[in-house]
Amino acid sequence: MQRRNFLTRLMLAGGAFTLGPACGRRINLEQTESSEANGDLSLITGNRITEPERQIPVLAETDVLVIGGGPSGAAAAIAASRTGAETWLVERYNHLGGLWTGGLVLPLLSTHGVDKENNRRQVIYGIGGEMSQRLKAVGMSIDEINPVIDPEAAKYVIEEMAREAGVKVLYHTWCANVIMDGPTIQGIFVENKSGRMALLAKVVIDCTGDGDIFHWAGDSYDLMKYHIGLVHRLGNVDRIDTGKPGYQPMSLGEPTPVPGVGWVNMRGKDDQNGVDALTLSELQTEYRLKIWEDVQKIRQTPGHEKVFLLDTASQLGVRVSRILEGEYRLSLEDSMTYKSFDDVIGICGAWTTMLYKGKRVAPAQRPMWQIPYRSLLPKKTENLLVAGRCFSYERDLVEDGRIIGTALITGHGAGAAAGLAIKERESVKNIDADKLKKLLKAQGAWLG
Ligand SMILES: Cc1cc2nc3c(=O)[nH]c(=O)nc-3n(C[C@H](O)[C@H](O)[C@H](O)COP(=O)(O)OP(=O)(O)OC[C@H]3O[C@@H](n4cnc5c(N)ncnc54)[C@H](O)[C@@H]3O)c2cc1C
Repeated sequence: MQRRNFLTRLMLAGGAFTLGPACGRRINLEQTESSEANGDLSLITGNRITEPERQIPVLAETDVLVIGGGPSGAAAAIAASRTGAETWLVERYNHLGGLWTGGLVLPLLSTHGVDKENNRRQVIYGIGGEMSQRLKAVGMSIDEINPVIDPEAAKYVIEEMAREAGVKVLYHTWCANVIMDGPTIQGIFVENKSGRMALLAKVVIDCTGDGDIFHWAGDSYDLMKYHIGLVHRLGNVDRIDTGKPGYQPMSLGEPTPVPGVGWVNMRGKDDQNGVDALTLSELQTEYRLKIWEDVQKIRQTPGHEKVFLLDTASQLGVRVSRILEGEYRLSLEDSMTYKSFDDVIGICGAWTTMLYKGKRVAPAQRPMWQIPYRSLLPKKTENLLVAGRCFSYERDLVEDGRIIGTALITGHGAGAAAGLAIKERESVKNIDADKLKKLLKAQGAWLG
């Protein structure tokens, strides 16, 4: 228990690195707090360890640096790179798409919302819309509203779009901390098979889903404990012998673009901490065991012998964890009342029934809603933008704030804003909202 507390404290401590006043930019990075040791036991005091000073190579100095290659990070990097800004994207796994692909969370929600004339219409355009169109074009998307896609096709399509845009993708790399100079984020430390190194940037975009970057940078946020699941897929769900004696129907998940393959969602309990490594490890083991046992039960049910476990997701399904307390926090009220913003960066739809003012409002009746640029901006840190499921919204909007459509919209907005800031040599906090809207429209976004 003591060790668990110790580890959790280290994780929560944040511990950003700051540049010492007398230090050059590339070397002598002065460390103010550390989170790991270098094998020297004399550096351990109680339950803290002083990491020895060391020199870290700088891998690159870039215009825009995106951390996390999920829907938000991919959209952000593509949008920034398309403006001509040199853009790097750091991703810990071996693919883009985040939970959408590696998490096997296949439906792109929410592509549609209700306009003021009461028509349910498409709202997802821009880079997210392009991804959706390309998936359709390769035959790996089913359904017009909230399409369900194939994860391998999406990995391919998103990577192609990033490659075409000239994004420099650094896979198999974990962002381990930020490098601060006062309120300005200078870059990040990463760890990978080549060792520890730094990446410096003029603008950084936090697309980690869990807000790792704004956490280390010392910005305020709300830590929401919520449902964590592990999605899996079943094969041969179309090879059921319904005539077999003893047959009874079993739940085989939802259809996917690949015939015979079903995807199975998992809810989890409602108070799980998505940024506690021990919790994540325990859940991973528990869920894998449960899925295996569930599938054996299906296979032992007459008529279902050919069904098999195709795969479990490579990314554990954290629905939400840290939510930024940004310059503006969107609320359910905003989303239900067509609230409009001068600095709108995109329009989102609605996918689920919400309780609003005592009434249950179904998706087919729910208004489309705007996202303001200010909800991507942390209050404290300069040169940092936040997109994806950790951008700034109230808890009552979590069901809409955390989904793929919203991640694509906020990612596109953040990437375009970063590109504009580079072009105009302006801080992301001061860019002109009209110029941003013009750029977003030129990049295919729909702003209402
Ligand atoms: C079980 C489950 C079911 C869901 N169902 C749906 C659904 O049906 N439809 C829908 O629209 N949404 C659904 N969602 C929500 C949706 O999948 C996510 O909210 C969405 O993918 C968020 O995108 P993102 O870019 O913000 O984050 P993520 O998809 O989480 O991507 C973040 C990326 O950052 C990387 N990363 C994180 N930290 C670091 C670091 N320190 N260094 C380097 N890389 C890092 C991760 O590896 C990951 O690739 C579901 C979520 C879960 C968990």
